[in-house]
Amino acid sequence: MSREQLAVQQARKSFLTGRSRPLAFRVQQLKNLLRFISERRRDISDAVKRDVGKSEHATELFETLGLEGEIKLAIDRMAEWAAPRPVEKTLVTLSDEVYIQPEPLGVVLIIGAWNYPWAVTLQPLVGAIAAGNAAVIKPSEVSSHSSQVMENLLPQYLDKDLYPVVAGGVLETQELLKQRFDHIFYTGSSTVGKLVMEAAADHLTPVTLELGGKSPCYIDNNCDLTVACRRITWGKFVNCGQTCIAPDYILCEPSIQSRVVGEIKKSIKEFYTDNPKTFADYGRIINQQHYKRIMTLMEGSTVAVGGDSDESQCYIAPTVLKDVKVESKVMKEEIFGPLLPIVTVSGVDEAIQFINGREKPLVVYVFSHNSKLIKRVIAETSSGAFLANDCLVHFTVSSLPFGGVGNSGMGCYHGQHGFDQLSHMRSCLIKRLNMEGVNSMRYPPHTAKKLSW
Ligand code: NAD
Repeated sequence: MSREQLAVQQARKSFLTGRSRPLAFRVQQLKNLLRFISERRRDISDAVKRDVGKSEHATELFETLGLEGEIKLAIDRMAEWAAPRPVEKTLVTLSDEVYIQPEPLGVVLIIGAWNYPWAVTLQPLVGAIAAGNAAVIKPSEVSSHSSQVMENLLPQYLDKDLYPVVAGGVLETQELLKQRFDHIFYTGSSTVGKLVMEAAADHLTPVTLELGGKSPCYIDNNCDLTVACRRITWGKFVNCGQTCIAPDYILCEPSIQSRVVGEIKKSIKEFYTDNPKTFADYGRIINQQHYKRIMTLMEGSTVAVGGDSDESQCYIAPTVLKDVKVESKVMKEEIFGPLLPIVTVSGVDEAIQFINGREKPLVVYVFSHNSKLIKRVIAETSSGAFLANDCLVHFTVSSLPFGGVGNSGMGCYHGQHGFDQLSHMRSCLIKRLNMEGVNSMRYPPHTAKKLSW
């Protein structure tokens, strides 16, 4: 039996003991997870530094702070989330107990991505534990240092049979995907997302797919360009653009393009100095393969800011591309790197048309003072989330469901949404065995007299 089969079998066996169900056990495991993050902070940040060159503070800000917040929220609110949820009754069920009982699904497979290796792998785990499931955790092999720390240290804190970490690459993931799970929670590219869904279909396993795509960012003329461009510069170049919800490209009118370029250039200098390459808060591209892919995307476009690179270090400067043609390479796939193309449009009508002519993105961003225009873009486009006048921050709001739609994914998590996503919402109706007279109408023979009763 393979290591992957063994881990799944052990997780199922442990789940069937009922050990993961009591709320006190779930709370204890979540407290252990909190303790893991706090005691192993240094191991985590060292691993992330080696994986993507992120500083200790950036790891705290973008990985562990949100994770700790989600764990504390689940500990505080779990009893409420797990409680029976009474629902409206019909006339004939007035004297019955009618409610929804969230119940654990069973064994969940969590497949993580490398770009925020801790946040995107352990946040789904919070929902899985809170909902009373077992979970097999498969971190991304691409962020190998984080994956190794997770595999070596997490079992020292969590029940290792219920929540095993199975590190490995494509082959190991494929082996895992052959097993029967009760839910698969996948974070990664849309291409692999389709393979995951195909494998899940074999066992009729439901999936949550947290995917990516090209998130557009429309800048209206009626806008404080200095503030807008500072926020966009932050959202785009943090983690070197390797963020699923980063604005992928800008749409704006030709009349403001050069000011947008100028403001972004100023913000890049403000954040990362004149030489981002030697600046601690500017990271690196994850590996040579992605480095080459991103460099190829630049071909055929005009560099307005940045453009420098160093293959030996997987370094690509924060780069703005102007007057980008719709048919250019950089507009054909999710960039997932520090290139920010600007495509000019004649106004909001064309921007909406442009967005609707493509796959549904993870986020639509709009920067404008005009609230009617903002509401119009909400009403006339579709995406996983919508943000006006800021970037990324919706990820930190646990009350908002985080997820995509169409090509950017299905299902959602964070806060109670994660708990609900990994629970089965069981319909329960409890009737008493008295008051049989009330039921006579539904029993044969069905006569007009009974119906007029
Ligand atoms: P990826 O799809 O290449 O890999 C993700 C996971 O899938 C890894 O654990 C990997 O081992 C596994 N995998 C890769 N190829 C496989 C195959 N052929 N069969 C089975 N498993 C396979 O994605 P990535 O490069 O790690 O991440 C980048 C993508 O993830 C981007 O598109 C980004 O937008 C998206 N992403 C989305 C979110 C979100 O929350 N929506 C978060 C982070 C990243």
